[in-house]
Amino acid sequence: MKIVIVGMPGAGKGTHAAALRERLQIPQISTGDMLRAAVAAGAALGRKAEGYMNRGELVPDRLIVELVERRVKEADCAGGFILDGFPRTLEQARALREAGVGIDVVLELHVPDEEVIERMTGRRSHLPSGRVYHVTRNPPKVAGADDITGEPLSVRADDAEDTVRKRIVGYHAQTGPLLDYYRRLAASEPGAPRYIRVDGSGSVAASRTRVFAALGIA
Ligand code: AMP
Repeated sequence: MKIVIVGMPGAGKGTHAAALRERLQIPQISTGDMLRAAVAAGAALGRKAEGYMNRGELVPDRLIVELVERRVKEADCAGGFILDGFPRTLEQARALREAGVGIDVVLELHVPDEEVIERMTGRRSHLPSGRVYHVTRNPPKVAGADDITGEPLSVRADDAEDTVRKRIVGYHAQTGPLLDYYRRLAASEPGAPRYIRVDGSGSVAASRTRVFAALGIA
């Protein structure tokens, strides 16, 4: 199955994409993770993307489209994949279609704005390992320290409250038209990706059950 997960930052795309990856045994392609890895490695792409990411802005389409087009053509994607965080704009969705990358399902994870703000501003990350906690929903054993290494946790630059609010405004402006596009496509064209909107609010377990059910997976 070729799945696109769309949702606000903090909606749980990454969490549900990881669960689907385990269940379906297909790769999870997270553009946010790919970009963060490029930044950490000091790669040319990372140097170009870092400023946009820290300001909570999307990186320019041309930087990301080629990266994804190359990744989905790799052998491990032949049996399907989960795109987590891409496409984020109408231009990216069109580029994917023009590149002949077929998609079976577009899954929109819907979470109200205020819940997203609460989730993201409480997030604490152990940057070297990628482990993520939440001050109330998933606290570390010792406040402010990673469970495994004891090293200090940090707030990702783009999880600061003013940046989160900016990302939400950006999401509605940039990803709204993308959702309209997929909704219209699903309604008007045979063979177009199915469009499913799932309630992603509340606990991870409850929304995972809804995601799996919507995709017809037990
Ligand atoms: P994420 O972890 O998915 O929230 O992504 C973190 C940041 O990476 C975003 O705020 C953007 O700056 C950048 N990014 C990730 N995916 C994309 C994309 N498809 N298009 C543009 N920028 C992206």
